[in-house]
Amino acid sequence: MKAIGLIGGMSWESTVSYYQIVNRIIKYQLGGFHSAKVLLYSVDFAEIEECQASGDWEKSADILASAAINLEKAGADFVLICTNTMHKVVPQIQQKINIPIIHIAQAAAEELIKNNITKTALLGTKYTMQQDFYKEKLIAAGIDVLIPDDNDMEFINHVIYDELCLGVISNDSKAELLRIIDKLSDRGAQGVVLGCTEIGLLIKQEDTPLPVFDTTLIHATKAAMLAIGK
Ligand code: GLU
Repeated sequence: MKAIGLIGGMSWESTVSYYQIVNRIIKYQLGGFHSAKVLLYSVDFAEIEECQASGDWEKSADILASAAINLEKAGADFVLICTNTMHKVVPQIQQKINIPIIHIAQAAAEELIKNNITKTALLGTKYTMQQDFYKEKLIAAGIDVLIPDDNDMEFINHVIYDELCLGVISNDSKAELLRIIDKLSDRGAQGVVLGCTEIGLLIKQEDTPLPVFDTTLIHATKAAMLAIGK
């Protein structure tokens, strides 16, 4: 079995989900006492969030590259960055290590294609929804991407940073997110990508008729399957 390297802590609320999912998949696949071989480097999210807010992406890239180098030295066979937003700096990190980074948007694109989705809604941080680094992976796979209007983007960003990353689960916010998903469905979205690793803590498939693509689940599942060569 290959060793999965996780760069987590962004936030740690969603890193918990990664750890659970990789272990559940390995147990389901191999049975008995099997569990995932995992190396976790969990960063201090306050440092990363400060870089995001000030636009100092190079500093955040250095912090995450250092984590990735340590994971490689410790024996990880590949690396997952357990946040969609920080995939903005994947190129800078990849160039410092010799093991592959499993890209979360790439994994999401593969899953959308598998489900014949050609037009998807994308929810995430304002960086993920507004900037190109994430959407371009979906677009390159032939998928049209719909993002919410400015007010709704602002609201989702607020829910991520002021609630979910702090462990706050609010029914009011959930209702509002479902309303935003409905609006995107009315605009023609055939599915919704939960492009933030915490949104799956709030929204589940049973909450909406629109097919849900939870990137935490997709990313962690891909890692577990890769680890056992499937
Ligand atoms: N975990 C979130 C994401 O998937 C947001 C936290 C962050 O900014 O990294 O984008």
